[in-house]
Amino acid sequence: MPAAPPEKPRKVVVLGSTGSIGESALKVARELPEWMQVIALAANSQADSLSAQAQEFGVKDVCIYQDALREKVADQVESDVAVSSGKQGLIELATLEEADLILIAIVGVAGLEPALAAIEAGKDIAVASKEILVMAGEEVMGKAAEKGVQVLPVDSEHNAIFQCLEARESDEVRRLILTASGGPFRQLPADQLQQVTVAQALKHPTWEMGQKITIDSATLFNKGLEMIEARWLFDVEMDRVDVIVHPQSIVHSMVEFCDRSILAQLSTTDMCFPIQYAVTYPARVENNLPPLDFAELAKLEFEAPRWDDFPALLLAKEAGTKGGTLPAVLNAANEVAVDAFLKEKISFPGIWRTVSDVMERHTVANSPDLDTLINADAEARQQAEERINKHG
Ligand code: NAD
Ligand code: MG
Repeated sequence: MPAAPPEKPRKVVVLGSTGSIGESALKVARELPEWMQVIALAANSQADSLSAQAQEFGVKDVCIYQDALREKVADQVESDVAVSSGKQGLIELATLEEADLILIAIVGVAGLEPALAAIEAGKDIAVASKEILVMAGEEVMGKAAEKGVQVLPVDSEHNAIFQCLEARESDEVRRLILTASGGPFRQLPADQLQQVTVAQALKHPTWEMGQKITIDSATLFNKGLEMIEARWLFDVEMDRVDVIVHPQSIVHSMVEFCDRSILAQLSTTDMCFPIQYAVTYPARVENNLPPLDFAELAKLEFEAPRWDDFPALLLAKEAGTKGGTLPAVLNAANEVAVDAFLKEKISFPGIWRTVSDVMERHTVANSPDLDTLINADAEARQQAEERINKHG
């Protein structure tokens, strides 16, 4: 029987509420009011949407990261709503006394310090922002274990693995198998990747997402980041994280156990599935999401990734294996390179070249503390920008 709702809904703070994940999270809240109550919202610059969301959910705390827009938001919301801005505003929301769960759905690493502050305050976190686990997975998971709080994966692959694992120990795992759609250029000959346009790269075959992750899906850096994300979330070495291309995006990922038995999680492609499970965990709750019809699907396909044509995977494997500051450097250089590609300053393969060059020049520091990671991130961004300005 599906679980009965709790006495009170979980009080959830949504950081990045105007984005693709944020909007899906609000859909889940509308659908399951007995399970999820949104109590605070944060966005970067979308003042009108943020104010409208605050109005709809009756929240009393909002944060608009761009301070110049704070007054505009304050004018648009009810007079008893506290409006903050900047990093401090995000941290205040992440540590609100009444909050039970903080959903981190900010693109890039801006959610890292709020996530750490939330953990420090004893809050469970649900993480969509894979970049923060790539940059500082050891720090985040270590702090969470110390404080006894949960880190619930929202990324569909990791949520799938989380469901398959059901809290089993990592030494029973032979392999985590991440599925990848392969992106829009799955079958494009390697010699044509140089000419790929921004519009082509933004056309994802199966998922509708924010721009950054859509480009990452085209380069396969998204899967590379997810390999490192999985390594930290589930405490396995990079050697036990594998990738298989699955163009239909129906099998969200799999776990092969030591007895060579494999469990998979399947559903239609809608991020409301993993978001809901993170919010209601460990309960399974009825919803109106689209069911999976196997007869209509007819077939599920799998193929090996093109490791040599899409170097993102090998770069991520290297970064995850060497560890230390290298994953933070890969992530930061990639963020800058994706931005430059979107502005048509570099070619599509220029994204890989930028990341590879910046990684090559970096001297890895082992067991970095947070400051060392923040410095490595800043340095990598600067080097990526210099390279882009010099070579395009
Ligand atoms: P998006 O671009 O659609 O939205 C990003 C959100 O972050 C927006 O609400 C924006 O206002 C907010 N934001 C950006 N900078 C901010 C800042 N400094 N302070 C506060 N808010 C800020 O991105 P998305 O597709 O929703 O992705 C969000 C994260 O979730 C990314 O890390 C992505 O990798 C991850 N993710 C997304 C999907 C998906 O289906 N979209 C799936 C898995 C993981
Ligand atoms: Mg994913």
